[in-house]
Amino acid sequence: MAPKRRGKPPKHFADLTPEERVASVVELGEKPFRAKQLAAHYFTHFTSDPAEMTDLPKATRESLATTMFPPLIRPTKRMEADGGTTVKTLWHLFDDAKVESVLMRYPNRTTLCVSSQAGCGMACPFCATGQLGLTRNLSTAEILEQVRAAFRSLDRGEIPGGPARLNNLVFMGMGEPLANYKAVIETVRALVAPSPQGLGMSARNITVSTVGLVPAMRRLTDEGIPVTLALSLHAPDDDLRSELVPINTRWSVDETLDTARRYFEVTGRRVSIEYALIKDMNDHAWRADLLGEKLNARGRGWVHVNPIPLNPTPGSIWTASERSVEDEFVARLRGHGIPTTIRDTRGSDIDGACGQLAAEEDDE
Ligand code: SAH
Repeated sequence: MAPKRRGKPPKHFADLTPEERVASVVELGEKPFRAKQLAAHYFTHFTSDPAEMTDLPKATRESLATTMFPPLIRPTKRMEADGGTTVKTLWHLFDDAKVESVLMRYPNRTTLCVSSQAGCGMACPFCATGQLGLTRNLSTAEILEQVRAAFRSLDRGEIPGGPARLNNLVFMGMGEPLANYKAVIETVRALVAPSPQGLGMSARNITVSTVGLVPAMRRLTDEGIPVTLALSLHAPDDDLRSELVPINTRWSVDETLDTARRYFEVTGRRVSIEYALIKDMNDHAWRADLLGEKLNARGRGWVHVNPIPLNPTPGSIWTASERSVEDEFVARLRGHGIPTTIRDTRGSDIDGACGQLAAEEDDE
């Protein structure tokens, strides 16, 4: 999946701040207020198609829209599960790099899982994306285009259950979001900006999931945007964690948990600890106890744990923990007073669940 062309994706309207959007349309010889009209088309009506922009002068509509909204992502495969309420899309980027996003509709909410990088450099051995290595960072607009596509298909009633809005967004697709900090934080700004300059989502409904890049976690703490932070811990002890999440050799469990605790203190947002339960690897009762102790040592009420049975990945020798072992792990954590909920593995039948995204394509 080596990119054909080198360099950066074309600049897109969604890469710009509201001020830069005005400057860009003026540079193209248009009145400043056209920027706001374009923003409304893009962020409120989820379109970049000049044919739908009938409030723009006919003569310049086409050239303005094609300059401001160069096509960045192209769907090449769509897979459905759960009666069409789970949809995984494979996207080809301008240089033929590939990423995936997964839309999940539940009875009373909808969640999109987006990719922030093509591939990933974190090399966690149980994760399919981790086996690919990093191809490149996505731009802000390449991430936002995945989000716009989801808003659009929900808005147009393409997902069973009638027209809807996207409520939740998780950076749990391909890539390590905090290793692409600038593009990710600019994406978050556009997600939370009120209409028409952004998608008007609530920060608390946006989850940034990280392996624990401590300096970037500190930076995120001080942004003043209270997104939900998820920390992929997977082991409470350095020996095992360094094997499962190699970056742990750089920042230890204790240092990472201290940084997560500070995130809670500053933002008031309870941190999520992600823990993939891998049979006979990290699912021991004593590890649940050690995790409970380490979390409680940093105070009460600041954290909850989200264990998830390991989703199988091709070539891996690891499997999910037995149900009884999972139950015991959860019971131990709860015994320590830690709120604990098992995360669902929706999409696993289309390789669309956590850790299964590998942007594979059938050779046809
Ligand atoms: N790089 C970020 C975000 C992408 S992964 C991170 O690691 O947090 C999203 C979540 O899926 C993480 O919690 C990750 O640890 C988890 N995950 C990865 N592989 C998995 C697998 N095979 N089964 C279950 N969860 C997995």
